[in-house]
Amino acid sequence: MNENTPRTFDLWIDGKPQQSQSGDTFERRSPFTGAVVGRYANAAAEDSQLAVAAARRAFDSGEWPHSSSRTRHDVLLRVAALVAEQADELADMMVQESGKPITLARGEVQVSVRTFEYYAGLALSDEGSAVTDRNQDALGLVIKEPVGVAGLITAWNFPLLGLVNKAAPALAAGCTVVAKPSHLCSGPSARLAALLTEAGLPAGVFNLVTTDIERGATVGQHLASSLEVDKIAFTGSTESGKAVLRSSATNVKRVSLELGGKSANIVFADADLEDAARTAISAFCFNSGQQCSAGSRLLVQHEVYEQFIELVRKNAELQVLGDPSDPATTMGPLISAEQRDRVLGYVDIGDEEGTLVSGGKDALPENLRESLFLPPTIFVDVASHARLAQEEVFGPVLSVISFTDEQDAIAIANSSRYGLAGGVWTRDITRAFRVVKAVRTGKMFVNSYNTAGIDDMPHGGYKESGFGREFGTSGLEEFLELKTVQIRLT
Ligand code: NAD
Repeated sequence: MNENTPRTFDLWIDGKPQQSQSGDTFERRSPFTGAVVGRYANAAAEDSQLAVAAARRAFDSGEWPHSSSRTRHDVLLRVAALVAEQADELADMMVQESGKPITLARGEVQVSVRTFEYYAGLALSDEGSAVTDRNQDALGLVIKEPVGVAGLITAWNFPLLGLVNKAAPALAAGCTVVAKPSHLCSGPSARLAALLTEAGLPAGVFNLVTTDIERGATVGQHLASSLEVDKIAFTGSTESGKAVLRSSATNVKRVSLELGGKSANIVFADADLEDAARTAISAFCFNSGQQCSAGSRLLVQHEVYEQFIELVRKNAELQVLGDPSDPATTMGPLISAEQRDRVLGYVDIGDEEGTLVSGGKDALPENLRESLFLPPTIFVDVASHARLAQEEVFGPVLSVISFTDEQDAIAIANSSRYGLAGGVWTRDITRAFRVVKAVRTGKMFVNSYNTAGIDDMPHGGYKESGFGREFGTSGLEEFLELKTVQIRLT
């Protein structure tokens, strides 16, 4: 794809591309080159209403919700194959629209393919149950049914997977869908809408509305408050998630919220320090720090504090900032000028609250000075109650905090309004498991961070990081209702 010819995308309503009713469009510029790389239909609440009406009709017709599980399995497998065929194009789109390095974008497409395959399998194998022996004169059944019309509102940092991990289980369950991606990277979602139809999904089962920044909240709020929508699966900031939750009260719809985080990566003195230091960098720099699970608080036991900071600092220098389409690049630009300014605001706060040992505004090479890049930026001696250690930065900025013993580490890790993820590094597996259990987060990594190599583990938060789970069988349950049936046999 040549950046001189931006891709164009329509809304996707009732099985076909459509302009917005006003005819309005918006553009996306590459955060790396500044060139226009995408032009999208700009939906308003009236377009969202049309999309919801199409999803409602498709649900009420019963064709998809009552289709055989074999049908849903086959369609989802065909989608997986089509996404795999389009892997280069989808990855390229992510690179251009979001500045995500190509190696990460390719990985995201691969996991998206596996996620469709996984939920195709679950569509076939997830069954209800029977109660046969409680009473000889009665038979009990537990039946699973799709929750209805699902509104899927997503963030920009995982532009494809962030929708796939909602859409695949929703469709496997038999729901119909209205998706609303972020204005910052709408292309992969819009392309997915077309692929779903190509794979044989009936008209109206998957609908998509794209919006610019101003209309994002309006359309998101329309979905959250609509009486015709039965479920909202939302990914975004905790502030927007609270607004979604309030609006969803209109019809007591089911809600799942994947929100912000400020996760603690805890390093004990007995850990493999070389390994822990390497991983501490990817834990907070993956996707340029723009990830909900980022290990953005590094807690280090005081005996090895100085030594470990030195190791982390050396590893930070190995990051390669540059053209996101170059496979050698490990960190691309931040998503937008607004995001860069927000992150730089936290660097100023860090200068007040800690000591800078690596990175910062002035560490960029000359050719990247006016860009949206920020190198790994590490502040040490940050107090655990400081703003830098409490607020989500969503950029490559690390707060390093010293701790004395296990209880101290647990107390610091838990002194956060968030509860998404965390890591523990130690050779003592008993201690690792004590810490895992004591830290109040939805997921923990032991001697690893972000993944130890297992796909499909449920992902979601405690506390203000949200509720509900994505991935795994729990991800499917978010889109299912349980109905019990009692049959008198006499
Ligand atoms: P955001 O809250 O600004 O926007 C997310 C989505 O919600 C967008 O589609 C946006 O248009 C829409 N939206 C905005 N305001 C809304 C409102 N009032 N009502 C309904 N919809 C609204 O978030 P963002 O900047 O796109 O994403 C970054 C945030 O997402 C970070 O806080 C990050 O931690 C979080 N996130 C969480 C997870 C997770 O799994 N927990 C994953 C990715 C991102």
